[in-house]
Amino acid sequence: MIKVEQVYKSFGDLQVLKGIDLEVNRGEIVSVVGPSGAGKTTLLMIMGTLEKADAGRILIDNNDLSRFGEKRLADFRNRNIGFVFQFHQLLPEFTALENVMIPALIGNVRQGVAEKKAKELLTIMGLSERMEHKPSELSGGEKQRVAVARALINDPVVVFADEPSGSLDTDNKAELHSLFFELRERLNQTFVVVTHDEQLASITDRTIHMMDGRIVEKITDQKSNSNKLNNL
Ligand code: ADP
Repeated sequence: MIKVEQVYKSFGDLQVLKGIDLEVNRGEIVSVVGPSGAGKTTLLMIMGTLEKADAGRILIDNNDLSRFGEKRLADFRNRNIGFVFQFHQLLPEFTALENVMIPALIGNVRQGVAEKKAKELLTIMGLSERMEHKPSELSGGEKQRVAVARALINDPVVVFADEPSGSLDTDNKAELHSLFFELRERLNQTFVVVTHDEQLASITDRTIHMMDGRIVEKITDQKSNSNKLNNL
């Protein structure tokens, strides 16, 4: 479903990605781990079309994104890709419900349809009582769940998450972990998650290890991760 082929990226003299090959299947939740500076976020940004590779190709659902111009790419991104960042980046002047609806309205979905979908997603997130609250009235974990709902509003083919639990305390982290697990069971949603959070990585289907711009090891054994989950 997602194919990364021989992707290279430098910032000035610094070569950050040194030939990345990776495939992600539909419905798979993949975590990307590795030391700071390994190139994880850069890879995520390139896969998410927010950053351009110097060489190599990204294919999502057989669309070769390297061939797309800016406008087509922006349109593809809004329709097909969801993002969750470490800091939720919700708009403070809007309610939780409005924040979730915004990407749908940008995509010209009708107001009533967007609202119905946003309400459904916020309910799945356990936020049915918090929809009319503004971000400042929500806890860190709640804000992050709103951000996940917002990422899902346009039925993306994939959600890219960069350190989604990075700014959360232990309780909120645990809540986000169970949310990811539940989403996998309920939505069959494809996720690629960059994380330092070992517990979050342990509940994903597969963990990719990066070091110094390369993928150094792949654990493809889903069972080993499920076993870890059973031992939590
Ligand atoms: P990770 O997510 O594994 O910590 P990053 O992909 O964020 O790694 O960064 C890899 C390297 O690229 C780091 O040395 C970082 O400083 C550098 N880098 C990332 N983005 C930029 C940028 N926009 N301009 C210059 N250097 C960057």
